[in-house]
Amino acid sequence: MQINRRLTRQIHIGVVPIGGSAPIVVQSMTNTDTRDVRRTLAQITRLAKLGCEVVRLGVPNMEAARALGKITDAAKIPIIADIHFDYKLALEALSQGVDALRLNPGNIGGGRKVREVTKAAADHGTPIRIGVNSGSIEKDLLIKYGGPTPEAMVESALVHMRILENEGFDKIKISLKASDLSRTVDAYGKLSETVDYPLHLGITEAGTMLPGAVKSSAGMALLLADGIGDTIRFSLTAPPENEVKAAYALLRSLGLRNRGVEVISCPTCSRTDIDVIGMAHKVERALQYIAAPLTVAVMGCVVNGPGEAAEADVGIAGGKGKGVLFKKGKKVGIFLEQDLMPALLNGVREILAAVGDGSENHHN
Ligand code: SF4
Repeated sequence: MQINRRLTRQIHIGVVPIGGSAPIVVQSMTNTDTRDVRRTLAQITRLAKLGCEVVRLGVPNMEAARALGKITDAAKIPIIADIHFDYKLALEALSQGVDALRLNPGNIGGGRKVREVTKAAADHGTPIRIGVNSGSIEKDLLIKYGGPTPEAMVESALVHMRILENEGFDKIKISLKASDLSRTVDAYGKLSETVDYPLHLGITEAGTMLPGAVKSSAGMALLLADGIGDTIRFSLTAPPENEVKAAYALLRSLGLRNRGVEVISCPTCSRTDIDVIGMAHKVERALQYIAAPLTVAVMGCVVNGPGEAAEADVGIAGGKGKGVLFKKGKKVGIFLEQDLMPALLNGVREILAAVGDGSENHHN
């Protein structure tokens, strides 16, 4: 599938470029108490190891804002401060050195307060994401459009955008989230025809892991396939580590990013002779921190197994109490079931040793 991405302006969140010709950036959000610097940093480190490139932190009060400096200094990836309503939290977050703000300028008290925040953000070179949520659209727009329609969402974004532009500020990124999928897709489509700021994609309040990942993927895939979206976040009622894994699975399946190990495994059936489900999960866990793009196959039997396993970088195809190991298309050995996993992981290590553990080429 050839996806032609719509060209947007490029901004930088810390060292990470977003928009323009930059790869689609994977984000997540911590769910620790931001005031708890140690736990928050531990979670950020786990997310970064999984490939999260930018992370957002909720800043509900001044204590949380004051913790941001320590977090920003120690974190290996850029930090976005998520602020609602209180402009003083935004000013504090900026003075603590965050890499970006998520805030709606129309919601922080207008006039002087907006000017102060915008000027401080401009002085720090810090971008601002405008995040329109269908649940919090301004009353006048709800009346004008008869509800939180895509048009109302787009106009809300434009109102916030103009407030910043009127202050001469243009390091802007925009998101338009609704939990209703078709409304979200329509809104992003309309917005991308209207502005060329980079867009942050997400389906808000998508749900728990499985239905949430499916719903978010369905919505984001429609947009991404249309070339829309410069950074994505899965909003899942699940540990944020899962959001990062889901993001790469989606981007990889669309050919938009090529990071990490893809485990190809069969659905299992009456012919399955080895513990494919257990092995596939173990393989996934064992290889989750590898950045190099690899395909690893775990197949249950010799019907489809050898074909799929042989196409992968490393693969196993089960037989009765034993299985075949393939490497780069070649059968390299037969192992007893209990020795298959170690043999597979060893095969992966050998390939990595040959290519380097290779973080991804950032321009794929
Ligand atoms: Fe069944 Fe074999 Fe296909 Fe797995 S690979 S689903 S065991 S036929």
